[in-house]
Amino acid sequence: MRRLVFASNNAHKLEEVRRILAPAEVLSLNEVGFHADIDETGQTLSENSLIKAQTVATWLQTQSIDDDFYVFADDTGLEIEALNGAPGVITARWAGEPACDANNRKKALAELSGITNRKARFRTVVTIIHGNTTRQIEGEVRGTITSEERGNSGFGYDAIFMPDGYNKTFGELPAETKNQISHRARAIAKLADLLKNNVL
Ligand code: IMP
Repeated sequence: MRRLVFASNNAHKLEEVRRILAPAEVLSLNEVGFHADIDETGQTLSENSLIKAQTVATWLQTQSIDDDFYVFADDTGLEIEALNGAPGVITARWAGEPACDANNRKKALAELSGITNRKARFRTVVTIIHGNTTRQIEGEVRGTITSEERGNSGFGYDAIFMPDGYNKTFGELPAETKNQISHRARAIAKLADLLKNNVL
């Protein structure tokens, strides 16, 4: 039986991905019994996405479970134009370790204080592994960084990111809207197409 495993335990991401891929069942790392931390040592989103998916796929192969696993992982970066694409690959740890969403948002607002060009984008690289096949796909959403936090749904930088064409941040918009236009939604929609067309 085909089983989709999302190499993440981030409850927000899991909820988003499950809604987008429904009715397919998506298992989390906890649900497949993988409890180790994965070091994101790559220099790019693509490398980190691959590291996450490969680590879990390799581990699943050692578990001799009689199932047909499709393992996928995402890695996301916020790229701010006026900061030459920063924080990019260090988006999660921008304000230091341990990673803290509130501190990251504060840092973004401080770095952009007095700067009028607020353009930014979220970019996600999704890696999917099935057997010996590995594919990577991308999704992005363009928008602007607000001058203060707005809304408290979502996670990460959602409260300060306003997608183009909307006057609300991801923190204010309903989850259904974010799930139609977000970086991850766009990448996962491409993933759904690959699965539907049995490309993997
Ligand atoms: P990662 O992909 O889990 O490594 O996430 C990188 C960073 O981007 C973390 O700080 C996340 O909180 C943030 N992030 C990832 N996806 C989103 C999103 O959909 N909205 C806001 N922040 C996000």
